[in-house]
Amino acid sequence: MGKDKVTEEYGSLLFTDQVMQERLPKPTYKELTKVIKEGKALDLDIANEVAHAMKEWALEKGATHFAHWFQPLTGITSEKHDSFITPKDDGSVLMSFSGKELVQGEPDASSFPSGGLRATFEARGYTAWDPTSPAFIKDEVLCIPTAFISYTGEALDKKTPLLRSQVALANQAKRVLALFGKQATSVITTVGPEQEYFLVKEEDFQKRPDLVLTGRTLFGCAPAKGQELEEHYFGAIRPTVNAFMKEVDDELWKLGVPAKTKHNEVAPAQHELAPIFEQGSLAIDDNLLAMEKLKLLATHHGLACLQHEKPFDYVNGSGKHNNWSVCADGKNLLEPGANPSENLQFLVFLAALIAAVDKHADLLRVSVSSAGNDHRLGANEAPPAIVSVFLGDELDEVVEGLINDEAVAAHGKTRMDLGVPMLPDVLQDTTDRNRTSPFAFTGNKFEFRMCGSQQNLSDPNVVLNTAVAEQCDEFATLMEGKEGDEFTAAALEWVKKTLRDHHRIIFEGNGYSEEWEQEAARRGLPNFKTTPDALPQMIKPENIEFFSRYGVLNEAEVHARYVSKAEQYAKLLNIEANTMVDMAKRMYLPAISEYSSSLAGSVATKAELGLEARAERELVTELTGGIDAIYDAVADLEAKNSDARDIVDPQEECDAYRDSVIPAMEVLRAAVDEMETIVAEDYWPVPSYNSMLFWV
Ligand code: ADP
Ligand code: MG
Repeated sequence: MGKDKVTEEYGSLLFTDQVMQERLPKPTYKELTKVIKEGKALDLDIANEVAHAMKEWALEKGATHFAHWFQPLTGITSEKHDSFITPKDDGSVLMSFSGKELVQGEPDASSFPSGGLRATFEARGYTAWDPTSPAFIKDEVLCIPTAFISYTGEALDKKTPLLRSQVALANQAKRVLALFGKQATSVITTVGPEQEYFLVKEEDFQKRPDLVLTGRTLFGCAPAKGQELEEHYFGAIRPTVNAFMKEVDDELWKLGVPAKTKHNEVAPAQHELAPIFEQGSLAIDDNLLAMEKLKLLATHHGLACLQHEKPFDYVNGSGKHNNWSVCADGKNLLEPGANPSENLQFLVFLAALIAAVDKHADLLRVSVSSAGNDHRLGANEAPPAIVSVFLGDELDEVVEGLINDEAVAAHGKTRMDLGVPMLPDVLQDTTDRNRTSPFAFTGNKFEFRMCGSQQNLSDPNVVLNTAVAEQCDEFATLMEGKEGDEFTAAALEWVKKTLRDHHRIIFEGNGYSEEWEQEAARRGLPNFKTTPDALPQMIKPENIEFFSRYGVLNEAEVHARYVSKAEQYAKLLNIEANTMVDMAKRMYLPAISEYSSSLAGSVATKAELGLEARAERELVTELTGGIDAIYDAVADLEAKNSDARDIVDPQEECDAYRDSVIPAMEVLRAAVDEMETIVAEDYWPVPSYNSMLFWV
């Protein structure tokens, strides 16, 4: 797309505000805007008019079907396509789409994971339009972003609690803002997800059942070269990759996804796509769309896009940084203000956030836990499994000053009478960044870096939004009724006390170091290394109470999510174990055996000639030992996986995968990888790390 074409085509497949304004009768448009901006209920007459306009627009764009697009508990997206056609008596068809079809749909809910919710409640579920996220056209289908709910109102998806948490935060933040004399009409969270991924050649991908079935390589010895030269990060983008990225941009722009930055990442073959931030739930919808497009469009270029958190051992895994802030009527609340009173408000939100992260560090940790992400968090790579907050030199100085009741000379700027330090403007573009911190202040937003690359960002945002809502609630409840100087003094005192109470979560040092792990333990910060370790936090009574207090998730919904997450973990590992067994038996063992036979044949021939062939003999011995080791490791893994699979209790099952199956997988992998280093390349049945990582 040329420059002008971009402007012209941007959002052309999106039922935008502008399109609605053009196509809807004025009163209808006004009513719908209210629904969207203020979260009002939508009545059927309006829905009918919107549906009609939407359909006419979609038909003009070549759409033939519509689909309710939703996010089941698996985290990916689901859609069922229905055509617009309605048969007429004369045998022809009408293209129709009613308000009811727009507002509500009934997918066959029984095949989606519900964590047992449907068994307890109602067999059926329905999808409900989320008017805050615009409809779009994808492959001739009008997609309507929806929430997925059981008939008794329980959330069966990732989006519903996210929307609820946004409402909770908006309500509580409005109370805080009111104390500062501001009547905000709209408070939203803003999210900017930076998506990391790997690209490999599609032909290599197809040759590796582990990549096809599990998204990661389950075998593979270390490449001769890793990422140690640090040459790939921000390196020149190769032509194939560039062509791919360009097509991704073009397609995303048509869908109104504000794709902005693309670059090579640290690991070889690793890349990143970052959009401009948007309203939270919309940003997550767009991230899911981007993930889908990345996968699909890669195939146009002979590539496969790997979104797993750890496609390759020995090089970095992929994450998804969740840049987060709160915005009231267009003003970023985490932007340090230009004058002292605005700074007090900033400090209140800052303290609220620090307290929120400290108080709910356990829930934040679970929200990003998965079998895939366990390879990053808690392993020897960024970021650590311990949640901490990084503020940067300037803000840290201000916070320390407040905690110690010291006069902070706020970088030479004046202080206000009440001791509220002026924050320097330079904070707004601070370059002081700590890449090892899982939760870092980056100028005017926080960046939560523990999220996994293939995860739906709803879970962490639900925790963040609700946790900050709780702090805003606490602040407002204490302050309401206070005015003027009394309020200012009390608010400042609250900020100081809150920062003191939660000081332990602030850490400015190296998050990867062993000292930090020990220091964090001394501070009493949780350190859950694996998903099964973290899972029980979800169903602690105080955590269930926390979510239900803000109407985000009730007890049954929390339990359902816990069960579903545990199931997901166990199922994924079962697939990985099965894939390993299968590959070892049917690919690696035959290949190693063939190679060793050929060598043995050559040893025998040479022996007839009276030659000792010492090296070949030794190799044959080593290969034969390797075959035995693989054979034994396969049997052990099969037995342990079968035992784990038989466990009924979800937690016990996950624990068994962690304690017994994963170690058995590691033994098998080591045995195979050992052989990869000595078997002739021609015999090896799958592409190696060397060939996959450096050729795209
Ligand atoms: P990095 O240095 O980590 O690559 P960038 O400065 O490029 O970070 O921005 C990362 C992401 O943060 C982008 O998606 C950007 O749109 C987003 N971002 C910027 N401001 C905000 C904000 N106020 N709220 C949420 N996300 C934001
Ligand atoms: Mg970042």
